[in-house]
Amino acid sequence: MADALTATSPDSAEPARSGLSAAALQRGVVDNLLCLQARYPAIAAPQHWYMALAYSVRDRMLARWAATVQTYAAHDARVACYLSAEFLIGPQLGNNLVNLGIEATAREALQALGIDLDTLLALEEEPGLGNGGLGRLAACYMDSLSTLEIPAIGYGIRYEFGIFDQEIRDGWQVEVTDKWLQKGNPWEIVRPEVAYYVGLGGSTRNESDAQGRLCVRWTPARQIKGVACDTPMPGYHVNTCNTLRLWKSEAVESFDLQDFNVGDYYAAVNEKVISETLSKVLYPNDEPAIGKRLRLAQQYFFVSCSLQDMLHLLDLKGDPIGHFAERFTVQLNDTHPSIAVAELMRLLVDERQVPWDEAWDITRRALAYTNHTLLPEALETWGLPLMCSLLPRLLEIIYEINRRFLDEIRQRYPGDEARVARMSLIDERGDRLVRMAHLATVGSHAVNGVAELHSGLLKQTVLRDFAELWPERFHNVTNGVTPRRFMLLCNPALAQLLDETVGDGWVTDLTRLRKLEAYADDAAFQERWRRVKQSNKAVLAERIRSATGIGVDAAALFDVQVKRIHEYKRQHLNALLIVTLYQRLRRNPQLALTPRCFVFGGKAAPGYAMAKLIIRLINGVAEVVNNDPAVNGRLKVVFYPNFSVKNGHFVYPAADLSEQISTAGKEASGTGNMKFMMNGALTIGTLDGANVEIRQEVGDENFFLFGLSADEVERVKRAGYRPADYVNANDELREVLELIANGHFSRGDREMFRPLIDNLTQADPFLVLADYADYVARQDDVSAAWQDTRRWTRMSILNTARSGKFSSDRAIDEYCEEIWKISPVRIALDR
Ligand SMILES: *Cc1c(COP(=O)(O)O)cnc(C)c1O
Repeated sequence: MADALTATSPDSAEPARSGLSAAALQRGVVDNLLCLQARYPAIAAPQHWYMALAYSVRDRMLARWAATVQTYAAHDARVACYLSAEFLIGPQLGNNLVNLGIEATAREALQALGIDLDTLLALEEEPGLGNGGLGRLAACYMDSLSTLEIPAIGYGIRYEFGIFDQEIRDGWQVEVTDKWLQKGNPWEIVRPEVAYYVGLGGSTRNESDAQGRLCVRWTPARQIKGVACDTPMPGYHVNTCNTLRLWKSEAVESFDLQDFNVGDYYAAVNEKVISETLSKVLYPNDEPAIGKRLRLAQQYFFVSCSLQDMLHLLDLKGDPIGHFAERFTVQLNDTHPSIAVAELMRLLVDERQVPWDEAWDITRRALAYTNHTLLPEALETWGLPLMCSLLPRLLEIIYEINRRFLDEIRQRYPGDEARVARMSLIDERGDRLVRMAHLATVGSHAVNGVAELHSGLLKQTVLRDFAELWPERFHNVTNGVTPRRFMLLCNPALAQLLDETVGDGWVTDLTRLRKLEAYADDAAFQERWRRVKQSNKAVLAERIRSATGIGVDAAALFDVQVKRIHEYKRQHLNALLIVTLYQRLRRNPQLALTPRCFVFGGKAAPGYAMAKLIIRLINGVAEVVNNDPAVNGRLKVVFYPNFSVKNGHFVYPAADLSEQISTAGKEASGTGNMKFMMNGALTIGTLDGANVEIRQEVGDENFFLFGLSADEVERVKRAGYRPADYVNANDELREVLELIANGHFSRGDREMFRPLIDNLTQADPFLVLADYADYVARQDDVSAAWQDTRRWTRMSILNTARSGKFSSDRAIDEYCEEIWKISPVRIALDR
């Protein structure tokens, strides 16, 4: 894979801080050990070596980073600003080595020092600055933006405590504080000089300015300072190194003893504590929106800092304010940053004296909005009293935007007050609420869903009236994931086989994997393919043993469901299948059953009782099934604790079967489904999210489809869904539910799972029981297919071969082409 970037001179005098040879890197590591950490090799612990290597790798990115920033400053290109409350970037060391093309070099340099690279990689704490798919998507997009040489900045929040660490005690999830910063973060560069002030609370009043113009003055009750914490994001084998800029909150003044008497001193300390609390902790809710004051303050804080930063960059360039939308395109990752619509208006109108109509034109041309959910409980709204007390000026601006917007609607649809009420930015039906999805839609020139099905449903449901009004604004950009992290880095054995078979160009053009189709039936290639999978499964088996004590047979079918625990994702449907198979074995111990190892992983929101009960059920079933002599090891059930990006690295490559079994119409896209496909897992899934497109790409015959479609789900619900009917019609299902209710998986406790059983048999909001029979039938097909090794291997190869569409490079290309109107800028590096 030699190219311009990795080719280095053999010159032993290559600089220790930038040289890409093993000798230079080795000197760099030892220098960092001594000069930054005051340690020398004889007394250095692995953690010190990790830090020394991380700093040495960072050193090697800095020239690229500086060149990138300087080039953008000099260039007239647009910059894509990706605003996201979450960036789940995962461990950085391995990824940066891969993208810089120096992984083998680093291994060699460390070996000469008697250090093993893998040991250091295992030590790295990941920044858990996201809940799941949405935050990981933002991280994949940062990787693709740099790799595709697109000028971009990621903007978000530098939480001091990210997503909690999950432990399993007595079968239950226990949350433990994530102290990711405890040992320091070598990737982050704090920039105290890049700081902005954000106001909260207080009141507004009308005034006239020096020129006699009417204006509004907002006097906030307090100011918080946002300080930039930058993380360089290098592209793969290019010079581009974009910036992820996360804001941390600080008190505006360090309090001055002389200015305060004793009473005020404590008030001042308190103010400081409040200010520093703002970016303290990530809210651990995945789907449901949480109407908390601090959460709204966090959103406004990072949005305001980010927009002020863009205006500052514009000023630095000497560009007029009217060029804002030419210089920046701002993508809102869900509604979390949607207060940007009102904040940009405030900054333009109040702070820069831009007339309203011109400011509105700039705002709409600059902003675009990605919707991520149709679940009613996940759509963000904020109560007017909260908005009024925390962001009084922004609420006034929202009212003014709404007044003008509704005037337009009334002109367009005279007399249709029902439509006006539906489309209003304010929900007036009960306690009055600001609808953030409406604000984002009205303030954007483009709105997109994240898979074909989802984008279609978006236009038929939550944004129907808007799609009718502005059809040209609606787009689809199906999500993608980066093949650098989710293939090259985490599955090196597969990457090697792919390089040898189709050439190494697949890493940046994933459609080239199509060439694998020619080898799908080749016996020798199939054998190599299976060996790769087998070795990945052995690695996962060892991880499972050390994390849980459970021994699993790497020859069994590895059936994996890893993702946040949620009723709509239906981990409990999977659990019902396991109990079904268990019940069949108890009935007939001689049954010829395909040996399977079921692997679950995922966190439940701490306040989500049903999700936590589902984890308890999985662990209860595991305890019984794994130890029942009648099962004799043919079924194993594992709940792998603390699923994270880092743990995902060895889960996705080891999977034979990918469980994508959400209720149709509920999963916007999914991205885990794509990671599995790339790594050669077959999918059992519903027609939901991107599963639809995965099936289209791989072919019906290579996908295990089951369950109701989104339309059918709605029809069944409208007709009055009665889950009990499905229980009465299916003996196997009835027995399974009885076994759980009778305490078989709760050590005789008949109360433990009652809420779950009652929920399924009485309401079953996600139609678990309606899809049960078809799911079990398709799983029987899976078991049969597994028995035909050549057929299974062929399907596995075809899954990887046809996964090209799901690269985040394709998704970013589409954003650039259709929404951002932005093109690459090559970064030159003078060496
Ligand atoms: C990819 C990923 C997800 C998203 O998984 P889905 O199956 O799409 O819900 C969640 N968490 C982590 C750590 C991931 O890497």
